Amino acid sequence: MVDMLPEASSLWLLRLLRDIQLAQFYRPILEELNVTRPEHFDFVRPEDLDNIGMGRPAQRRLAEALKRYRSGVKSKNWVYKILGGFAPEQKEMAPRSDSLLCLHEPEGGLKSLIPEGAVCRGELLGSGCFGVVHRGLWTLPSGQSIPVAVKSLRVGPEGPMGTELGDFLREVSVMMKLEHPHVLRLHGLVLGQPLQMVMELAPLGSLHARLTAPAPTPPLPVALLCLFLRQLAGAMAYLGSCGLVHRDLATRNLLLASPRTIKVADFGLVRPLGGARGRYVMGGPRPIPYAWCAPESLRQGAFSSASDVWMFGVTLWEMFSGGEEPWAGVPPYLILHRLEKDRARLPRPPLCSRALYSLALRCWAPHPADRPSFSNLEGLLQEAWLSEGRCVREVTEPGALRMEPGDPITIIEGR
Ligand code: AMP
Repeated sequence: MVDMLPEASSLWLLRLLRDIQLAQFYRPILEELNVTRPEHFDFVRPEDLDNIGMGRPAQRRLAEALKRYRSGVKSKNWVYKILGGFAPEQKEMAPRSDSLLCLHEPEGGLKSLIPEGAVCRGELLGSGCFGVVHRGLWTLPSGQSIPVAVKSLRVGPEGPMGTELGDFLREVSVMMKLEHPHVLRLHGLVLGQPLQMVMELAPLGSLHARLTAPAPTPPLPVALLCLFLRQLAGAMAYLGSCGLVHRDLATRNLLLASPRTIKVADFGLVRPLGGARGRYVMGGPRPIPYAWCAPESLRQGAFSSASDVWMFGVTLWEMFSGGEEPWAGVPPYLILHRLEKDRARLPRPPLCSRALYSLALRCWAPHPADRPSFSNLEGLLQEAWLSEGRCVREVTEPGALRMEPGDPITIIEGR
């Protein structure tokens, strides 16, 4: 992502040039004239444009387009400034004629501004820190309707709160760039009242809700939990490769897109990893999920891929504990003390094999550098894979679990 940012921030230029059929000058303007923002054109002389081979009529077209663009940006609101890269829905649907566009637009197609009337909201699915999520139906310009989830920004009597608005827009701008089978997909944004994010629908809700569902809903099979862990490690390795930290990894933020597919969601706390040390340090006091956090996050507000790995360990623990709350009953201010001074760790849940628990313990190494990376975890999870088999004879002995031939068996611990 660190590499992608300059490209994303110069998308306005590509679009502007494309609109006046001058897309071939995108690279020279960016690289030879160092123009990355509209005001940089104030320092570009006609001779400079001559030097990159742009004729005078084309220069006039550019000057007029710039004038239009600047007055347009002023009259548009802050949303455009923060997002920078959204095009109206119809434009995205237009055939892509130049190869530059394919190189620099976020891959995966349709991420667009969606007209307010194209989305209708239905039942309430849940509510989060800065808004509510409804089931919805999005009607595409082709007339086709697709089920979606719509997250609306909560608005107080005096408009949206500053931090909530910032987090909402940050979530949009992060999700806009992501494309992974286990990361929730953003379809687009509705610039209405309220602001709405239109996302892929995860029809089966959050993993936490599924883990804590009361009987008669059966518990999730252990082998399926292991599959979810591998999907999660893959998605997190991808986020890390984009230079991002999630900072809020927990089963409540994993959504079930199908019975056997989870998707990482809730990117409100995601931040880019800055500097050579690959860390993000919080600027001020903000709510953080204490019981999921690594010691360095609790002590210094420092987050990194390694602190996401710590959270992965806590998420693993939640999965095998039936969605129990980690460190329940321990006051937040004592959690750091328990982790550091007492060297305490969450206990092994009965359904968690020793191999998997030792992997969780590695995620909870005191020093971030001693924790495995997400790519390592993908391999380690393969090694800790549980054996599966089928019952071959009827078991009816008193005190033993009743089983019939053909019943699936997962060996959690065995020699
Ligand atoms: P959030 O604001 O992202 O924390 O979402 C709040 C709740 O809404 C979640 O815990 C889910 O139960 C539900 N939710 C959020 N996004 C979706 C989605 N894409 N599909 C289905 N349910 C969702």
